[in-house]
Amino acid sequence: MHLAGPVVVGDDEVRAEAWVVDGRLTFERPDGPVERTLEGVVIPGLVDVHCHVGLDSGGEVEPELALKQAMVDRDAGTLLIRDAGSPTSTAFLHDVIEAPRLIRAGRFIARPKRYLRHYAREIEVADLPTAMAEEARKGDGWVKIIADWIDRDAGDLTPLWPTDVLAEGVAAAHEAGARVTAHTFATEAADGLLDAGIDCIEHGTGLLPEHLAECARRGIPVVPTLLQLENFPGFAAQGDGKFPEYAARMRRMHARRFEHVRAMHDAGVPLLVGTDAGGTIGHGNLPTEAALLVEAGLPAAEVIAIATWRARSYLGVPGLEEGASADLVVYADDPREDIRALERPTHVVLRGALV
Ligand SMILES: [Zn+2]
Repeated sequence: MHLAGPVVVGDDEVRAEAWVVDGRLTFERPDGPVERTLEGVVIPGLVDVHCHVGLDSGGEVEPELALKQAMVDRDAGTLLIRDAGSPTSTAFLHDVIEAPRLIRAGRFIARPKRYLRHYAREIEVADLPTAMAEEARKGDGWVKIIADWIDRDAGDLTPLWPTDVLAEGVAAAHEAGARVTAHTFATEAADGLLDAGIDCIEHGTGLLPEHLAECARRGIPVVPTLLQLENFPGFAAQGDGKFPEYAARMRRMHARRFEHVRAMHDAGVPLLVGTDAGGTIGHGNLPTEAALLVEAGLPAAEVIAIATWRARSYLGVPGLEEGASADLVVYADDPREDIRALERPTHVVLRGALV
């Protein structure tokens, strides 16, 4: 297979053309005839770093549905997924050659009555380190915890874990060879997560300038999940009457969501792209999430970088490198110039095979 580019490899690296031989990418013209040429702008397969394969609004799903979810993502150009917690055991997807690559985080961890029902492994505070070590061994190098959620007694978001237990938990996950990411909406959870040595932050709507500076200094990525933030007015409406402080906070965070994304970017926080698919958000929506990040004020070229080679580098998966698996997407128009081009891939190539 011949790729008549441009082939966008990285921030400052664009090749004119490339080839796929035995499923692998090469920049050296192979001997012999080429059976097919794909023309267009070639970029590495998109990376959704917050995507729940094996979850829907009721929790766990059948393996057939988990596979279907992954295939919907694949067809939209998402060829690498870091799940952000799943109640379904999706390890079988590693053996499905047509499925996108998957890096699992085990089952996400929360406390009883302090998260959505049927989603998480619900434990008591003292059991956090043990549970995190166990989920670390079940996943593919990631553990996901819920750091804050509405506390109905307090009538507002509050942290689920005291900092010392959190620190023990993160240390236990690290000891088991995993990195840790955390769901957080609230400001109150941020100090504890950073003090505990968190590796990545999901949503991050409550982070203050000092937290952003710390994330930038330590290279801790934040995944803004703007599609999920569109649900905040709905969460607020559910809290109206009973939980006025919570409702007001969710509305405030929603109102400043774009401003907050720009502030994170300007502070030098590494951002990544996550749709938060599964639960209530559909799969295959990475192009929409990317377009929202551009709407928030990020340059399209920057969004392409964080949705492809930078995310791959962070997750330790090659992009368009000599000899790497040919996982790539081809577009008629350059998505670095117009992000909406992501909605119209002309070809998706996974493990060297045209999808
Ligand atoms: Zn999520």
